[in-house]
Amino acid sequence: MEERGSLKRDIAIEVKGLSYIYSRGLPYEKEALTSVSIKIFKGEAVGIVGHTGSGKSTLIQHFNGLILPQVGTVKVFGEEIKNDKKFLKELRRRVGLVFQFPESQLFAETVYDDIAFGPRNLKLPEDEVKERVMWAINEVGLTSEYLDRSPFSLSGGEKRRVAIAGVLSMKPEILVLDEPTAGLDPQGTEEILSVVKRLKSEKDVTVIFVSHSMEDILSLVDRIFVLKEGRVVVEGKIEEVFKNKEIVELFDLSVPDIFLLGEELKEKGFKIDEPFRDPLIAKKEIVKNI
Ligand code: ADP
Repeated sequence: MEERGSLKRDIAIEVKGLSYIYSRGLPYEKEALTSVSIKIFKGEAVGIVGHTGSGKSTLIQHFNGLILPQVGTVKVFGEEIKNDKKFLKELRRRVGLVFQFPESQLFAETVYDDIAFGPRNLKLPEDEVKERVMWAINEVGLTSEYLDRSPFSLSGGEKRRVAIAGVLSMKPEILVLDEPTAGLDPQGTEEILSVVKRLKSEKDVTVIFVSHSMEDILSLVDRIFVLKEGRVVVEGKIEEVFKNKEIVELFDLSVPDIFLLGEELKEKGFKIDEPFRDPLIAKKEIVKNI
């Protein structure tokens, strides 16, 4: 697929003309998605934003076949999603979905067994299961000392990291996170964001991040899709979307103060090379002007 001049980029997910109606044919049917078409490229980090009820969860559940398309198509790594048991099993291994409040799905006696659940289901040999568990716990920033503990003895943020490790242990090529920082305190939020940042820097995982928090989105993703009443109403590079006052107003996007500060300083003649995505970038850019 040819994109942006001669630059070739592999597509991870391609959605075309996707519409979805809950309780179709019943008096209370509800159209949750209307003619959604998007492309997500391999290795990129994208954000999906929109108010509650705008269709974010419905859309992302199509990515690993939890919801099958009614109208339109969804292709993952070039293959159209189809209702075939074997296909869907493989798809769910390749596309890991971290649900909202994933810690509510922890169930095993130890952290180890929880993280090992997926790989054991794949019937991998126990030494490979162990290797994956060790890799995944490290990836979410916890030490192996946690492995023998009961998941229920952990803090909220730790539980959530264990739940994410359980998805990572499947070695997904696409990781979809639905509101992963919801309900966490600032420290827990920071921990989850650094897990996602680490994954993003490893480049081979495509990250799809659903969030209400524009601060989280700004610090993590390169492109965003804004959903409103089941339609994609805006898509683009995050700094371009946030800079567009008309769009920001029209779709009621709460652009983080830190980003606005960077733009304001630029207008005042400061030499700002990078959009202010987080306090570290802001500090670096401001220091250059002193
Ligand atoms: P978001 O994730 O952005 O909050 P959802 O995809 O959950 O949005 O919901 C989109 C619309 O579909 C909403 O109007 C919601 O009430 C409706 N909806 C979601 N799930 C169901 C369901 N299981 N049955 C009926 N309607 C649903």
